Amino acid sequence: MRTPVLEDRYGRIATDLRVSLTDRCNLRCSYCMPAEGLDWLPGEEVLTDDEVVRLVGIAVERLGVREVRFTGGEPLVRRGLVDIVARTAALRPRPEISLTTNALGLARTASALAAAGLDRVNASLDTIQADTFETITRRDRLDDVLEGLQAAREAGLGPVKINAVLLRGVNDTHAAELLRWSIREGFHLRFIEQMPLDAQHDWSRAEMITADEILATLEREFTLTPAAEPRGSAPAELFEVDGGPATVGIIASVTRPFCGDCDRVRLTADGQVRNCLFAREESDLRGALRGGASDEDLAERWVAAMLGKRAGHGIDDATFLQPTRPMSAIGG
Ligand code: SAM
Ligand code: SF4
Repeated sequence: MRTPVLEDRYGRIATDLRVSLTDRCNLRCSYCMPAEGLDWLPGEEVLTDDEVVRLVGIAVERLGVREVRFTGGEPLVRRGLVDIVARTAALRPRPEISLTTNALGLARTASALAAAGLDRVNASLDTIQADTFETITRRDRLDDVLEGLQAAREAGLGPVKINAVLLRGVNDTHAAELLRWSIREGFHLRFIEQMPLDAQHDWSRAEMITADEILATLEREFTLTPAAEPRGSAPAELFEVDGGPATVGIIASVTRPFCGDCDRVRLTADGQVRNCLFAREESDLRGALRGGASDEDLAERWVAAMLGKRAGHGIDDATFLQPTRPMSAIGG
């Protein structure tokens, strides 16, 4: 019998699983959530550590997932994180394990995470100017983030990738400074186009800083040449900076969508499979799991959940509807 894989109707096979460990966060990035936060998921709806590890195990051992990325919300606020990473690293075949984080508190946990088997960290940082950092995140915590990033590098969790979102009139003039700093620190910077995934529904196509604008801004100060490395399913288009070896990435999710090469699937903190960030339907694995479903049964449900994956996110279509869950509750 053919080993099941997470294949959709367009022949795309998901091998990269994003697992949201919590919808809570200790920052309040304006493009992500409102100042007052959100109504967090009730505790009993959130998967326990054992449930997370069981579902990740099914994905890795039965369904061909090769990469597991823990995210949120802010995954570092999840108490069991180090243990979840260690148990994920014990799965066979051992998946690549990474963490998407705002890096707050990473200074304390980076070495324990590395020892547990974490391979890499992707951190979010939109500016290195403290006042603008506070304007965007609504918290005065830039120094903690910078310490966290250094700790990640020292713990061997590299190459540390930095994700930055540019906001018009806020930090769009900081792009070159952020790139120069990232190169100096040995971090790999990638700019992400702002997506319609904020809880407040404030996103506007006209206000969004496009990939073309980001490139034009950077090209005023650097020579950028498309990197030779094949892009594959990676969302970032890579450019060599001033002849390399340093690179900068642009993730043009809105203006140059890469849905055709998508190899991702998501599991929310409350145990729902989402076949796309922008999916409007979810498949409930938590209910089945708590109802006594076998691993085989859960794997079958997961395979079935992929069949509804749409060809593309359709942000530019007149009929586009923003998903009900914001990014922080889906797992970015
Ligand atoms: N809290 C962690 C962090 O900030 O890295 C993980 C979750 S966060 C939702 C994951 C990524 O999504 C971050 O890099 C963040 O900048 C990005 N993000 C959040 N809202 C976004 C939006 N509306 N458009 C584009 N990226 C967004
Ligand atoms: Fe928190 Fe990450 Fe959202 Fe910022 S982007 S509010 S750090 S979940």
